[in-house]
Amino acid sequence: MSYNQKAYALGSKRSIIREIFEYSKTRAQEIGAENVFDFSLGNPSVEPPKMVTDTIKELLEKENSTTLHGYTSAQGDLGVRKAIAENLNKRFNVGLTPNNIYMTCGAAASLSICLKAVINEGDKCIVFAPFFTEYRVFVENAGGKLIISKPEGKTFQIDIADLESKINENTKALILNSPNNPSGVVYTEDTIKAVCDLLKRKENEYKHEIYLLADEPYRELVYNNVKVPYLMNYYDNTLVCYSFSKSLSLPGERIGYIAVNPKMSDSNNVYLAVCGAGRSLGYVCAPSLFQKVVAKCLDAQVNLNAYEQNRNLLYNSLTDFGFECVKPDGAFYLFVKSPLESATAFYEKAKSHEILVVPCDDFGVEGYVRIAYCVDYNRIKNSLEGFKKLAKECKLI
Ligand code: PLP
Repeated sequence: MSYNQKAYALGSKRSIIREIFEYSKTRAQEIGAENVFDFSLGNPSVEPPKMVTDTIKELLEKENSTTLHGYTSAQGDLGVRKAIAENLNKRFNVGLTPNNIYMTCGAAASLSICLKAVINEGDKCIVFAPFFTEYRVFVENAGGKLIISKPEGKTFQIDIADLESKINENTKALILNSPNNPSGVVYTEDTIKAVCDLLKRKENEYKHEIYLLADEPYRELVYNNVKVPYLMNYYDNTLVCYSFSKSLSLPGERIGYIAVNPKMSDSNNVYLAVCGAGRSLGYVCAPSLFQKVVAKCLDAQVNLNAYEQNRNLLYNSLTDFGFECVKPDGAFYLFVKSPLESATAFYEKAKSHEILVVPCDDFGVEGYVRIAYCVDYNRIKNSLEGFKKLAKECKLI
């Protein structure tokens, strides 16, 4: 066994979400896809905006194909980075230049690069539960240690006292994801201000930077115009990890960017560390065609109404049936308290009604399941009878 055992362990153990997704495909072959109510995967169910498909066609027709598909600079095409910087400045007034932007392959690459850029072996990185399970993989791969901060009561906002108890002189970074996967919660401006005030105080106390990584694939997916504070405007040492996977329904195209706050101490050097981390991880020259596509579609939007209708139907029905749900203001997930003590036992019971949800123990909060409602409206409608039976079996009605 001369190969790397850590890599083997990661590769041989599928994530629970992938496991359920594979089961769902097998089950669909057995009983028909229309009879399996799979709510496991965060794969966008609405199509990319027409502007995206039009732009792809136009670029393919009009641009020189050798250039279009050729290498760009390692950090991304200059014109693309300029367009992104200008767009962010217009929306958030943050003073970015193209030399603060690094094009990447989605948020996963953005996070891996940023962690590698700021973490030294043994540094600690705090994540807020519930959290996207891959954070553990990314943090540990960068040589860091993952520390979990618990959420506040039933609101699932950040518990500032708990956060303070988790920060020490070895804390180098935090990952903050809002709108949140899996809770759908958007952290309020008060929460963000409290986190940032605390971090500034701790930076002064420990006399070193603590970097805030804003993981933002769901920034644009919010309902009722809820405000998602732009972290650079609250905290200088912020790096934004953005992805177009959900905002433009392009998860398979692997496109996103990192924005390094120009107000950060040593901003230019941190950007160079980002470039170096990207280089060492092999994340250079993000997909060329899609760099150019997103640069032309920065203000395009997917059909949010579809997600909002799904959210309303699912949230209203499940709460009617007696389930306790966190009301999601964003993303496309519903976080539901398991009526049974074990979330896995509830997952199994739901499965017996052909309803596939994700038990969330690995997300850092026990006793909850996640329902991804980025699915066809009819799938939700047709699943409600099963949910009602489940509620009865669990003595909620
Ligand atoms: N961060 C969060 C919170 C996510 O939910 C996801 C994907 O679902 C990612 C990061 C990774 O996004 P991408 O597909 O753009 O790499």
